[in-house]
Amino acid sequence: MISENEVIRMLQNRFPVKSKFIKKGIGDDAAVITTKNAGEYWLVTTDMLVENIDFRCDWTTPRQLGRKAISVNLSDLAAMGARPRYFTVALGLTSGISRRWIAEFYRGLTEQGGKHEALLIGGDLSSSESGIIISVTAVGESLGRKVLYRSGGREGDALYVTGILGRSAAGLRLLSGGCKQPSTRSQRLALQSHRQPDPRCAAGLWLAQSGMIRCMMDLSDGLSVDLPRLCAASGVGAEIDVARLPLFTDAASWNLNPVALALHGGEDFELLFAVPDSKAARLERTYPLDLQPITRIGRLVRGKGNIWIHRDGKNHRQLKERGFDHFRRNACKNQHSCANDP
Ligand SMILES: [Mg+2]
Repeated sequence: MISENEVIRMLQNRFPVKSKFIKKGIGDDAAVITTKNAGEYWLVTTDMLVENIDFRCDWTTPRQLGRKAISVNLSDLAAMGARPRYFTVALGLTSGISRRWIAEFYRGLTEQGGKHEALLIGGDLSSSESGIIISVTAVGESLGRKVLYRSGGREGDALYVTGILGRSAAGLRLLSGGCKQPSTRSQRLALQSHRQPDPRCAAGLWLAQSGMIRCMMDLSDGLSVDLPRLCAASGVGAEIDVARLPLFTDAASWNLNPVALALHGGEDFELLFAVPDSKAARLERTYPLDLQPITRIGRLVRGKGNIWIHRDGKNHRQLKERGFDHFRRNACKNQHSCANDP
């Protein structure tokens, strides 16, 4: 079965950048374009949510779904350090959909867009015979020309993430186990992370403006899938110390392995970035306390595409990709097969 990465590589080869106004084409979190004499760049990204693949109507309200549909797009803008500005939404709706569902969906969409200063400016409507289809395109603007790409990482750079990893995947496990209403604070956090992730726009913007960061992306499919993408773009490998991962430890009491969730879970929508080792201390000293906390989880190493994990420098072994891939049957998003073994 062809993988998502293979399709993207095929498209990159087939549609190479042929204009000086395209700063980045296919293959990063967003495309980056400019116009003659512009002081800033425009960034464009599209993300699609398909019923029963990316969401289930009995696990989410239309308002929560609207919030998520815009958030996953804004996360891609955050990943490049851009400020969200506008978005459009295309919907394929099933015949039984109610007027109330549509109103609530757009309410969630626009309230979450508004929170991050992105305005709805258009879209399209069609019908669908096999589930709801949602496609959002978001447009952002760089501040100055400071945009962070996936490429740019170098051997020796310190590797960081924002926030907690694996909480959204824990929420998905709760839902697939039949828990829709949280009865504890940690259940509420996990369900909220899964149903209504909040993009790290402010952190992304600060990091891009700081001038210290070499490369960045967002974590949508899981660290074990996304980190190899960052490494491939930068031409390096990476090492992760699992003892340093910011885990959702409460998941252990639900018989889940917090390390496996953090490595393979997906849909965290946190940021992954690399900084020269010599700037790591300054980054940690100057990073604003009111933004999502950052954690140093490892470093970039020689050896393109090789990802290693270890615990406190011991038991090095290669990390296999086990996060979400739309074209692979063992994907954990719809099969819930994120095994407990990391
Ligand atoms: Mg992304």
